[in-house]
Formats: sequence, structure tokens, C-alpha cells
Amino acid sequence: MNVILLGAPGAGKGTQATRLAEKYGIPHISTGDIFRENIKKQTPIGVVAKSYIDKGQLVPDEVTVEIVKQRLAMDDCKNGYLLDGFPRNTFQAEELDKFSTVEKVVDIDVDLTKLLKRITGRRVCVCGESFHVDFLNGKTTCDKCGSELYQRADDNEETVKNRLSVYQNQTAPLIEYYQKAGKLVLINGDQSIDKVFEDITKTLG
Ligand code: ADP
Ligand code: AMP
Repeated sequence: MNVILLGAPGAGKGTQATRLAEKYGIPHISTGDIFRENIKKQTPIGVVAKSYIDKGQLVPDEVTVEIVKQRLAMDDCKNGYLLDGFPRNTFQAEELDKFSTVEKVVDIDVDLTKLLKRITGRRVCVCGESFHVDFLNGKTTCDKCGSELYQRADDNEETVKNRLSVYQNQTAPLIEYYQKAGKLVLINGDQSIDKVFEDITKTLG
């Protein structure tokens, strides 16, 4: 089961991917998470990635594609994977087609006007869970593992606006790319987390 979760920043890809990975026993591969891990460890990739991520721009394709190519070649991807945040432009999608066969592309659709609030209110945990301040009732720790929650450095209003415009210009054309390939499934992302999950699992079987 090789699946891509498509959707704008804040659409709920990470939230759903964590749950789907658990249900289907396949790895959740988020290029954003890989970059943030590299930034934390101050690797050469991390240093390059940070300069783009801080501005809300895409990390160059040659870096990103290579990371995904190596990751998908690992043993735990034999029975499938969930890609979150990749591909993000047509070049990346064409490159992915050269080294892996994607079966389904789930597009989580949320009105762009609602995303700014979703992202600026996002609080994340080291364990991979993400939450929204509106539902935390003042809590500052993770329900799942108890760690202190924090806000991503790029979840500020100015950077988010750039990320949303990058999405519209570079990533949204992938909807048509995968529609033409007969792989696209459209999911209404403006519903409860449980309902979105139910709709996705219905289409994945
Ligand atoms: P993405 O990975 O697509 O950038 P996330 O999964 O991190 O998005 O979700 C962004 C924010 O929106 C988080 O604060 C998350 O808790 C919240 N969120 C996710 N799904 C929903 C939903 N169905 N309804 C309301 N808020 C949601
Ligand atoms: P995300 O965690 O998916 O919201 O991604 C955070 C940031 O990482 C993005 O704003 C980009 O700067 C960078 N990034 C993540 N995935 C990619 C990708 N496929 N191509 C280029 N840059 C990416």
C-alpha cells in the first residue's frame, strides 16, 4: 500500500498519517519531520533546509528527492508507506514515479481561509502528535506521552502566508497530475478528525 497524503499545510496530513500508520502498520514518512530532525542534529542537510524552512520556501529538489529515494529503499517500506509532505511540486512527482509506484493519492481538502488559524494554533510534541490550542483547554503537555508541547518555528503568521502561497502555486497542480493518473481520492478535511479518518480508511480498505 503506497499512499501519498496530499493537502495544504494544516490540512491534517500529519494528524491522519499517525493514525493510519498505526492501523495499517506501514511507516509514516514526513519530509518536514526528516528536515526538522536534521536541523535539531545540525547536520549539513539540516543547515541547508533551515534557511528555506524559516522563509516558508521549498527545500531544493535535489536534496529532497534524494532523501525520499533513500528512505523508500529501506526495509520497512516493503509493504507500503504513507508519504506526508512529498511530493510538493511536479518535478518531485515525476522523480517519485521513476523510483516507486504510488497506488493512491489522498487529497485532504480544507478551505484555504481556515488554514492560517489551524497552523498558527498548532502545538506539537516530540512523539509526533499534534494538537490545536482550541482543543487543549489550557493543557501544555501531550495526551499520548506527557511531554511538553511546543510551537514549530515556521508556524508563525508571516511564514505560514508564504507556505500557503507556495502550496497554491507549486503543490496544488499535483491534484490534476494525480487525477489524470487515475490515483486521486478527494476527502473533505473540514470535518472532525475521526470522520476524516473514517472516510480515508473507507477508500483505502
Ligand atoms: P499538516 O500535517 O497537514 O500540516 P496537521 O495534521 O499538523 O496538518 O494539522 C494542523 C492543525 O490542525 C493541528 O493543530 C491539528 O490539531 C489541527 N487539525 C487536524 N485535523 C483537524 C480537523 N479535522 N479538524 C480540526 N482541526 C484539525
Ligand atoms: P511540513 O512539515 O510538511 O509542513 O514542511 C515544513 C517545511 O519543510 C516546508 O515549508 C518546506 O520548507 C520543507 N519541506 C517539507 N517537505 C518538502 C518537500 N517535499 N520539498 C521541499 N521542501 C519541503
